[in-house]
Amino acid sequence: MNRSLTGALAFIVLAACGYRDRDADLVVHNAIIHSLDESESVFQAMAIKDGRIIELGAEQQIRNRYAAKETFDAAGQHVYPGFIDGHCHFFGHGLNKQKIDLQGTRSWEGAVERTLAYAHTHPGDGWILGRGWDQNQWSSKEYPDNERLNELFPDRPVLLQRIDGHAAVVNQRAMEAVGFDPSLAIEGGLMLKRDGRYTGVLIDNAVGVFQSIIDQADESTKRKALLEAQRDCFSVGLTMVCDAGLDPGTIHLIDRMQQEGVLKMRVYAMVTDSAPYLDEFAKSGALHTDRLHVNSVKVYADGALGSRGALLKAPYSDLPGHHGLQLGSRSHFLKVAEWCKQHSFQMNTHCIGDSANKLLLDVYAEVLGGTNDRRWRIEHAQVVSPADRSRFAEYSIIPSVQPTHATSDGHWAEERLGAERIDHAYAYEELRRTMGLLALGTDFPVEGIDPLQTFRSAVLREGPDGWPDGGYHVENALSRHDALRGMTIWNAIAAMLEGELGSLEADKRGDFTVVNLDLEKASPEALRKAKVTATFVNGERVH
Ligand SMILES: [Zn+2]
Repeated sequence: MNRSLTGALAFIVLAACGYRDRDADLVVHNAIIHSLDESESVFQAMAIKDGRIIELGAEQQIRNRYAAKETFDAAGQHVYPGFIDGHCHFFGHGLNKQKIDLQGTRSWEGAVERTLAYAHTHPGDGWILGRGWDQNQWSSKEYPDNERLNELFPDRPVLLQRIDGHAAVVNQRAMEAVGFDPSLAIEGGLMLKRDGRYTGVLIDNAVGVFQSIIDQADESTKRKALLEAQRDCFSVGLTMVCDAGLDPGTIHLIDRMQQEGVLKMRVYAMVTDSAPYLDEFAKSGALHTDRLHVNSVKVYADGALGSRGALLKAPYSDLPGHHGLQLGSRSHFLKVAEWCKQHSFQMNTHCIGDSANKLLLDVYAEVLGGTNDRRWRIEHAQVVSPADRSRFAEYSIIPSVQPTHATSDGHWAEERLGAERIDHAYAYEELRRTMGLLALGTDFPVEGIDPLQTFRSAVLREGPDGWPDGGYHVENALSRHDALRGMTIWNAIAAMLEGELGSLEADKRGDFTVVNLDLEKASPEALRKAKVTATFVNGERVH
């Protein structure tokens, strides 16, 4: 046998075995890959090329078949489809990092102190913006009063938002700066008074008067905000964020930064409900690129429970006669719904109180007419009367919920709602049973960004502080498997992206998150220490 024939034979033998005769950009191996595909397959290895998974299989099968530019040895760790936050404020989180952080303050005085310290390091006469105070965390539990801010900053406008963004305190100079007169009524807004005097505390639409100030940032600040938010999110294993309300300018900036290759985060951007914004998207239509998806509108029906802006059928248990705030008219909601139907956009409406949920479920029902595949969503679905619940299934409406809200608000929610209504608040398992799926998110920066805390709050019903012992209304805990699906494939479905994302299958994107333990089998103690050790988007390691 001559040498060239030997060579040819060797080639034929190797090709028959398929020995590394295929190219891949990345081979992940020595892993426990929870694919979350329909048959719940588990694999040891997978190959990725051009950002997409090309094959999953057993260790040797994949290693022998692919010559990869890079390999990732998972060292026996667990690989999950990339975690998706179904409702958050990605850009807002980044922007907040450029403002005074008032989270964790124990009193109003503490918040004022931080504001003063910030002013010293940022001199001048420009706006002082802060965010994150929460009077429920203060010993007084009382809303602030701007008297001290007026004394300290007579010539400099100050605006400090509450943790949920649904309330803010402004000083006198801030009101003058925008020509705001607190004695003029604002629909869907409140200006609080103490002893007949306005305290500078604004609720819901009254905060909206200052929205352009809150969002103001030049392009370099915005870029910095997006990159800082991205770094935080990748470090906790997020591969896609659903940003619940952006203006077209920010959406286009995200698109540019993704095209430039600096922003690698996948973003599902909900367009903030505003006539000029909708006009713009009516002309351009839905926007889909490799990493950006714009095919939904974010609408607000009511405020938040913490600031008593959530719209309730019966009055607040801790404020007689007060029902909360409706942030738009029924006819407005109908008009937006018709727009969404006509332009094939999803309608994603913030509904916290039982009355807001009923109102929007009614509006959706009227426009949708029956079961459908439009995947309109109710964001938060926090207090839903049992009588209204079946509408989710009847009109194919997806509840998009935040398990950490249950374990954060649980400290005071019953005071607001009373013993009866609390049974149907944060009732995620009830909603899951009704609709068959849930989108899970955090609403960060209202809550922390960590999806593993979402998981713990969903399944153990306990907050990062371990509260409460034994879990909060554990009858509404999700099973571990459902919680995982809620963070991955159900979130992909709720974003209409399940063909691309949400499970690890051939032809889908190579987005995955590596965790140091088995989320479905770990003990509660171990779960509290679970860690994301690596994050990949389109097969590229980003953390
Ligand atoms: Zn939100």
